[in-house]
Order: sequence, then C-alpha cells, then structure tokens
Amino acid sequence: MITPLMPVFARADIAFERGEGAYLYATDGTRYLDFASGIAVTMLGHCHPHLVKALTEQANKVWHTSNLYQMPNQQKLAERLVANTFADTVFFANSGAEAVECAIKTARMYQSDSGHPERYRIITFTHAFHGRTLATLAATANERYLAGFGPKVDGFDQVPHGDLEAARKAIGPATAAIMVEPVQGEGGVRVAPPGYLEGLRRLCDEHGLMLIFDEVQCGNGRTGKLYAHQLFGVTPDIMPTAKAIGGGFPIGACLATERAARGMKAGAHGSTFGGNQLGTAVANAVLDVMLAPGFLEGVARKGQHLRQQLAMVAEKYPGVIEEVRGVGVMLGIRTKKPNDAVSNALRRHKMLSVTAGENVVRLYPPMIIEEAQISEAADKLDAACKDLAG
Ligand code: PLP
Repeated sequence: MITPLMPVFARADIAFERGEGAYLYATDGTRYLDFASGIAVTMLGHCHPHLVKALTEQANKVWHTSNLYQMPNQQKLAERLVANTFADTVFFANSGAEAVECAIKTARMYQSDSGHPERYRIITFTHAFHGRTLATLAATANERYLAGFGPKVDGFDQVPHGDLEAARKAIGPATAAIMVEPVQGEGGVRVAPPGYLEGLRRLCDEHGLMLIFDEVQCGNGRTGKLYAHQLFGVTPDIMPTAKAIGGGFPIGACLATERAARGMKAGAHGSTFGGNQLGTAVANAVLDVMLAPGFLEGVARKGQHLRQQLAMVAEKYPGVIEEVRGVGVMLGIRTKKPNDAVSNALRRHKMLSVTAGENVVRLYPPMIIEEAQISEAADKLDAACKDLAG
C-alpha cells in the first residue's frame, strides 16, 4: 500500500526537531553534527539569530502580497545582488529548478529578441544536475531520472564535461546557450578544470551564445566567494541560484546582465510566490551576514583547514578514502567503499553528510563552523573510516 507521503525519497529513520548552529537534535535528543546542511541550504547554520529575527519580524508585518505590487524587501535584495555581482537584473523564484527554468527562458528569449528565434538549444554537460522539472531534467540528461516520464523535452544537447572541443563541435545553427555548474555538486563535487570556464566563455562570445552558470548549489558563499565563478574570474550572462540564498527559507533567483534579459518584458515570465515578503526578508538577512567584512575570507580559511584535516584522515585510511576534493566548505571525499556505506557510518558517529555522483560523500558544513567543530568532524570521519577499514 502506498504511504501517505509519495514515496519518492529514501528517507533515513530520523526526525529532527531542533537545530542550533552546526548541530541538529533528533526527537530522541541525539545531537548530530550537520555537514549536510539540508543539501547545501542552511549555510549559516540552524536558527541563526539574525535570520530568525528577520523572519519573525516580517511574519508579524505581512506574509504575501503578490508581484502585482512593489515589495521593498525584494527591491532591496535585487539591488544588493546587482551591486555585488556581474548582474544588472534579477528574477525571483522559489527553488533551484525554477531559477534554472528562468535562465533557460531568458537565454531563448535573448536569441529570439536578437532576431534568431531558431536558436533555442542549450548545450549541457555530463555529471550535471539542473533540477527535476521536465525542462531541467532534460538539461540534466540523466537517464535514471528521465525514465518513465515520456519524451524528453527537446532543446538540450549534452557533451562530456571538461572537453572544450566537444562543446565546440556541439554548437550548431540552433544553439542558444551553454549551461554549466562552475562546481558540479550532485555530480560529485567536481570543480571546473583550469581554463575550462574561460574556454566556454570564449566559445559563447565567438558564436553569439549566452553563457549560463548554474550556481544553485555552488553559489552563495560556500566556495569562499559570494558566487563560485568569481574564483575563476569568468562571468556568465545568466546565473540561476537558490539553496543557500535563503539560508533555509525557500527562494531562488535568476541573475542576468541587461543585454541577456532585454527581451524579458512585462508578462514574459512570472511566479505567484517568487520573491515573496518572507523569503526576501530572510535572504536580505543572509546577505547582511555574508557581506560583512571578512566573512567570506573566513569561509575560505575554514575550508582550507577542514580540507587539511580531512586529508590527514584520508592518508591514514587509503583503503577507504581515495581523494578529498572541492573548494571552500564545498568538499567531497571520493571513497573506495560504497559512498552510502561511508555516509551511514558517519551517521552512526552522529555526523550528517550527503552522497553524490562518482562515489563521493559531500561534506557541506555551515559557513559558521568553528575550529572545534572542524576537529570534531575529522574525529568522526576517522572513527567511520576505522569501522569500514576493519
Ligand atoms: N541546479 C543545481 C546545480 C542543483 O544542485 C540543484 C539541486 O540540487 C538544482 C538546480 C535544483 O534545485 P531545486 O531542488 O531547489 O529545484
């Protein structure tokens, strides 16, 4: 018999009832060190006082008014994102997939508005993940996720990630854009190889294509930069983001240059809840913390320290850990054991992680992690490896 909750998730048998900073507390009182962060979402930890204040203050004022009226919180958030990135304009959504959907539509509209309505196809890459709507699934092109849902939405051409020549060869008269994650998350914490994003930028410039960086997972401070592409010194034309931008409150955003978004006029796109009063109040509070002087530099420093600690454990257990990879506090360990065995072992030692492609276990601590918690994580990983090595 089907469960009341549609059984599309394989859930662990734990329920959390409270969170504080880097810790989650289960209903039986057990404390877990949270290195999953709700899959790259709660990047300021749980119940950050500044975020709780912003949410409760807004909840006591007004929750929802629709996008038919001005929303000062939304306006302010857009202005701050524009001031701190390549972008000139922002559309707010509720999730990553919706933000990516807006990016796809913006790229197609740009071509149409430029006199090339025949250019609608988007080049995407192996190991990618762009979401679970029908279009973003087609962009993801993972057969496992597509099976059973009828014909794949047309308009996406997938090529091997890391191979510039393959991307060049895939460009045709119907190509509108190239879409890539600067650090592939679900695919296994795969940082773009040196020169790769620059090469894609060049290809786009040569062929009149839009460059889309999907920063739903790697964006919003986790790499030690506000957005991951800032590590590489390459800018996109369009950038969807979500997850950590709301620190746990659902909100997504699609950032674009003026040129890229010039066709996106009134009526071209929309959302009932996108950029709502509560979400934008919290996202502004997230930015307050992230843009405070020295905060992102601190994330980079903590990430390096964590990585060193993990590398020391890896050296001790070469039969369990093959590689530590990633950047900032977006780290992954590629294991020689099944990755779910490692993640389960960590959970037995009261630490949460998330599995990813290429047999990787993602370690995504909140950016407010303290030195003592980094050591605690290394000890728990050591204990988990010891169990598995034996
Ligand atoms: N794009 C990337 C890079 C992601 O990692 C994800 C989610 O994991 C998405 C898009 C889809 O986001 P959401 O699950 O919020 O729809």
